[in-house]
Formats: sequence, structure tokens, C-alpha cells
Amino acid sequence: MNLRSVAVLGGGPGGLYVARLLKLSRPGCSVTVYEQSPPGQTFGFGVGLATRTQRNLDAADPASFAEIVDNAWSHDMAMAVGEQKVTLPVGNLIAIGRSTLLDILRRHAEAAGVRIRSGARVSAGDLDADLVIAADGVNSATRSATFGPEVSTHRGLYLWAGTDFALPSAVFRPVTTEFGTFVAHAYPYRADRSTFLVETDEDTWRRAGFDVSTEQTPPDVSDEHSLSYLAKAFHDELQGHPLIGNRTRWLRFRTVTCARWHHGNVVLLGDAVHTAHYSIGSGTKLAMEDGIALVRALDEAADLPAALQRFEEERRPAVEHLQATAHRSMRWWESFPGRLDLPVEQLLIAYMTRAGKVTLDRFGALAPDVVRTGLAQYAGCDPVDVPDSDRAAWVLSRGVGAGSASAPAASVHPLPVDGVDAWGPAAETLLTRARTTSGPVVLVADDDREAMLTLFDVGERVRRETASVVVARVNRRWSEFAAAALVSGRVDRVDLID
Ligand SMILES: Cc1cc2nc3c(=O)[nH]c(=O)nc-3n(C[C@H](O)[C@H](O)[C@H](O)COP(=O)(O)OP(=O)(O)OC[C@H]3O[C@@H](n4cnc5c(N)ncnc54)[C@H](O)[C@@H]3O)c2cc1C
Repeated sequence: MNLRSVAVLGGGPGGLYVARLLKLSRPGCSVTVYEQSPPGQTFGFGVGLATRTQRNLDAADPASFAEIVDNAWSHDMAMAVGEQKVTLPVGNLIAIGRSTLLDILRRHAEAAGVRIRSGARVSAGDLDADLVIAADGVNSATRSATFGPEVSTHRGLYLWAGTDFALPSAVFRPVTTEFGTFVAHAYPYRADRSTFLVETDEDTWRRAGFDVSTEQTPPDVSDEHSLSYLAKAFHDELQGHPLIGNRTRWLRFRTVTCARWHHGNVVLLGDAVHTAHYSIGSGTKLAMEDGIALVRALDEAADLPAALQRFEEERRPAVEHLQATAHRSMRWWESFPGRLDLPVEQLLIAYMTRAGKVTLDRFGALAPDVVRTGLAQYAGCDPVDVPDSDRAAWVLSRGVGAGSASAPAASVHPLPVDGVDAWGPAAETLLTRARTTSGPVVLVADDDREAMLTLFDVGERVRRETASVVVARVNRRWSEFAAAALVSGRVDRVDLID
């Protein structure tokens, strides 16, 4: 297919990366990026890039990837509750400053022959090119009704701040103050900087008066009142350092989905067309991987409509899967303060298994001591008695929580969990029914992966918000999920059925 000109709206990671890849693949095509901000001026601090993302970026463009790695900071991960802190050795995680990443991508785009026009806001409708790629971010003005957008704003609040030193590792740290619980998700990304993101719930935010400070903070400055309060609240983790802002204010995360990703010669890419909650650290990855897929579709399809169709068909399932995981993760973090009664190792197991991606054995291969201790805490035994393999079978074979060993209550009417959002208002009806159930609450669901994960999430909510004993009645093939759910306190017992 012949493309003479491509206009890319937005010089974020998605726009700059797709521009470079396109120009490398089609040297004869004129590729121009339009970015409203001057170079070097951007929001945020560092962003994390996980192992698989690193592999994908390396395969797509080894030169820019090498420079990204040279400028990134690798880190382990820790969970810290009160005096307890457990660090996981996960040395393949890296983080890089957003402005450093943009600078690298910009230079590599220019080196490939991409023209970059900075400093003026542009509308997709004004761009005259064979193909317009709208990578204009979460607030995309290109994302009109034609694309069938849905934007849901979530109730939790987050504030993206930074520190002027490198934390020793990434850390999740809850702190409970007189107003409620604040949770930091923090990670170092260069020798003198860390991202320090803090989230909280709406009630805590209002009690702390941050609704007022948010209202009083103009858009182009940081909410210094919140930053200084949080610096005191997280004094120990910050080792007395201040929190720094970069147009930092409290925000509510917005999930964007679109019924259509392209229209005519315009295609949406990155945050403009989909977002995934920051707790799985994937927005930059998704935007850059969109670029890889789009350039491949343009190379392989016969004409532009077929290429854009192929791009959407290829990317949509992967993106939607990640959005589902991100949604589950978001809800897990929103409900996180309710889990602070768990010992930190068990909490780490709950964290790692929250979205069904990691089994007890997989986590055990990464951090055997943490898993051994967490399983011993759950089972009330000595850590030396916990095996180093087949952990799910071991958990399920224990007296407490081993469904197969306990008699299923045949007389109990199971409560079906049908695709509700476990931590959302739709689950209230189930809670009401659970409260009026005498004896254990038995939950059942459709026999598929997402339904199973939801069942266990609902189980946890019912357990925490009613006094009921919660039993999950699930097919034996979900034993891994069931074992992780028991250790994580999502259910009290499991009835495994064949
Ligand atoms: C708190 C927080 C933490 C995050 N942490 C991570 C993380 O750890 N890992 C990760 O992968 N992602 C993370 N993300 C997500 C990540 O920042 C975004 O998903 C990513 O930047 C999306 O890239 P993009 O290119 O699609 O859009 P953006 O980066 O938003 O870029 C869009 C660009 O378009 C420009 N623009 C918009 N409209 C116009 C216009 N009309 N004319 C000209 N220019 C325009 C904007 O100025 C901007 O530069 C985080 C996000 C948040 C909010």
C-alpha cells in the first residue's frame, strides 16, 4: 500500500514511537508529529516497563530500546505495613522518567526523518494527510461520538507526585491518619527521583479537606497543601524528604473504551482509545505496542481500510483483556485498606494473585520464602512444613478451607454470582441476600475464568462486610484460583466439584 503522508497528532510515547516505526518501515513517506507542548514540558514522573514490554520494544526497535534501558532504573518491589516490610527480588522491572522517555523517542523519531511540530494545539480535522493517527491522549478531542466512546470516571482519587531521591525499591505503603487510609505506590526511576503516587477514597479525601485544596489549585500548579500533608504522613518512607509536584493534583482515574477505533483515514491510538488503571502500570506500554501493531498492519494489508480494520482486530482482544485485569486491580486497591489485618506476606500473596495471572507456585518460584511464610500464616503451621511445589494442592488439602474435605451443605441455596462488579454497587443485592442467609453463604458462578475471579472477589466482600462464612462451590479445574483465594482471605472454604 502506498502512503505518501502520515500526520500524527500528539507527541506522547504512543505518537512518537509510531512515527519512528512508520518512518523506518516507509522511508519515502512523509511523517509529521504535532505536539501542543514545547519539548521537555510534560506531566508526571517515572513510568514502569515490565519484562514482556521490554521484550516487545526490543524486538520492534532495538536502537531506541537500548537507549531506554540505559536511562532506566531497575528495582525490586516491597510491601510495607507498619513496621513490617517484605521485599521481593524482581530485578527485571525498570522505570524511566516520562520526560527522559519522551526525549529519547523524540530524538529517535527525528533521526529516522520524522518532522516534529511543537508548541501549537492542532485539530485532526485540520490535518491533510493520507493517514491521521490521533495519539492525543486521554482527553483526546479527536475521540468524537463517531468512535462510540465510553468514559467511566472512578470514585477513588490519586495524586501523582515525586521524590528528590531514589527509593531503595518500589514500595506499596499504606498509612492511616486521623482522616483515613492513604496508600503510596512508589518506585525509583533515576538516581535522584522516584515516582510517589498516593491514592485514597473519597470520604478520606473530603475529611482531609483535599476537595477544597483541589478546587483552590489552579490547573498549571501543584496542590502544595496536599503534598505537604502527605510528606508528613509518609515521613518514614520518604526519610524526611519532601514530596515534589509537577502540576500535581488529585484526580479520578478514567477508563476509556471505544466501539470503533478508526473512521475514514483517522485512527485512534494509545490513551485516546483505551486506558488501563495505573496500578498495573501499562498505559505507556499499550500506547507503544499499539504503534508496533499499527505499523505491522499497514505493512501487511492491501489497503488503508483493511489495515485499520486489521489493527483493531489484532489489538482489541489484548487491550480488552488488559483492561479487565486493570479493572480488577483497581477494585483491589480501592478495597485495600480492608485487608490490613493480614500479615504482610499473606497480603503480598493476595496482591500477586489478585487478577488470576499468578499462581501460588509461580509466585513461589519468584519468592519462595515469602510464599512459605504466607502459607504458614494462613495454615497456622511452621513454615518448614510448607512444601516448595504443588502448593495449591497442599492448601486445599488442609482441614480448614479444604472444600473437598468438608461436607457441602446440600440444604443451602447457593447464591449465583452473575458478572457483577464485586466492589461496585451492583454487588449490594448479593450482600443483602448474604446477610439474611443463615449458615454459610455458598457462592456459585458460570464455569469460566472471569466469572470465577469475580466469584472470589464477591466472596471477599461478603466475608468482610457480613459476618458470614463464605464457601465457593467451583469446578476442580479452578483449584489454583481457589487455593490462592483461601490464602488471601477471599473465601473461608471451597467445595470442589467435578
Ligand atoms: C498516575 C499515572 C501513573 C502512570 N504510570 C504508568 C506506568 O507506570 N507505566 C505505564 O506504562 N504507564 C503509566 N501511566 C500511563 C501513561 O502515562 C499513559 O498511558 C501514556 O502516557 C499514554 O500515552 P499516549 O501517547 O497515548 O498519550 P499521552 O502520553 O497522554 O500523550 C498525548 C500527547 O498528545 C498531546 N496533545 C493532545 N491533544 C493535542 C492537540 N490537540 N494538539 C497537539 N497535541 C496534543 C499532549 O500534549 C500529549 O503530549 C500512568 C498514568 C498515570 C495517570
